[in-house]
Amino acid sequence: MKKTLNDIDVNGKRVLLRVDFNVPLSADLKIVDDNRIIEALPTIEHLVLHNAKVIICSHLGRPEGINVPKMSLRPVVARLAKLLQKEIGFIEDIKDKSCKEILDKMNSGDIVMLENIRFYKEEEENDKNFAKLLASFADIFVFDAFATAHRKHASSYGVAELLPNAIGFLVEKELEMFNKVLTDPEHPFVAVLGGAKISDKLPVIENLLDKVDTILIGGGMAYTFVKAIGGEVGKSLVDNKSIDLAKQTLDKAKECGVKIVLPYDNYGADEFTASAKRKCFNSGFFAKDFQGMDIGPHTVKAFKHIIKDAKTIVWNGPMGVYEFPKFKKGTYKIAKCIAKSKAISIIGGGDTVASVQELGLEDKITHISTGGGASLMLLQGKQLPCIEVIEEK
Ligand code: AMP
Repeated sequence: MKKTLNDIDVNGKRVLLRVDFNVPLSADLKIVDDNRIIEALPTIEHLVLHNAKVIICSHLGRPEGINVPKMSLRPVVARLAKLLQKEIGFIEDIKDKSCKEILDKMNSGDIVMLENIRFYKEEEENDKNFAKLLASFADIFVFDAFATAHRKHASSYGVAELLPNAIGFLVEKELEMFNKVLTDPEHPFVAVLGGAKISDKLPVIENLLDKVDTILIGGGMAYTFVKAIGGEVGKSLVDNKSIDLAKQTLDKAKECGVKIVLPYDNYGADEFTASAKRKCFNSGFFAKDFQGMDIGPHTVKAFKHIIKDAKTIVWNGPMGVYEFPKFKKGTYKIAKCIAKSKAISIIGGGDTVASVQELGLEDKITHISTGGGASLMLLQGKQLPCIEVIEEK
């Protein structure tokens, strides 16, 4: 078990808190969705309440090591100050001598935020000296940026190697939820996988074979499976490098007694556009000039039937090209069905979460993961570097 906020004494201490405030901004730099800030509030409030001097560090966007003014964290500081009803200091350049002056003046309960840490190229290089500079600001490091837990960067992994540390409440909750379903799930346990990249999802299937009862496969990844068993997929997305492994995975699932359900039918399009001609095909019988864009009505019905009886559901990846209104039905229907279920439900992945948000179903899902890549890695059975480096209790 990793050390959590409740295991450390922060009274009067300088705490460097790594969060993920990578919020979407509009062209005029207004925060479009402040969910990531809201999610970090319990940790920040705990630190303030326990008299820590809180130094918040985050990235925003991909400035790739240079100062890009439109990726400044200033709008985030303003929003956080408003949410907490508290003044928050801002450090524009951690390499400037004014940084130390500001930090030295901090009192217990104060909060200061550092400018976008990815303005420094050393961050993503996990530069040792850069990590040392960050570590020099604080007595304790708290990691609460689950969405970056799979990346070894200086402000997450590097600094954790140098300071006494713990995870924050957000990361604690993420780990608890994934640990519960991956080690002690209630059955029937159904995994719903979709999206485009089958290479990401094959290791997930491999890891889930001794845990789940059924795996429902939709999205673009399904066509590589269909091709692997000899079906005609027309112009559908196929990852030729994954065909053999897809076939082996189907065989292995059979050996393990896990039911993998591929789509029975699919909506196809004559071109990859929102206004394309739509036509339904039985799985494996696509017209040569059509490509699969969504699961069809029989598949939706069959998937719903299985989801209805599940006690645990994990969902990652949309059932089709849900960005095009003509092809979002499958994803939306599965989202509604999971939301209706009484099962423990965990969803992860940017597109999957976005589809649930578009439908306003967030409250009906047990856990919506804040980390796409990080949650995928947990489902693949891999360790997250930024969690591994945190001290044990
Ligand atoms: P992933 O990151 O692998 O979860 O993929 C998410 C993306 O998969 C979304 O942008 C979807 O539009 C895309 N996607 C889902 N189904 C299909 C499909 N049948 N063909 C092409 N792309 C798809």
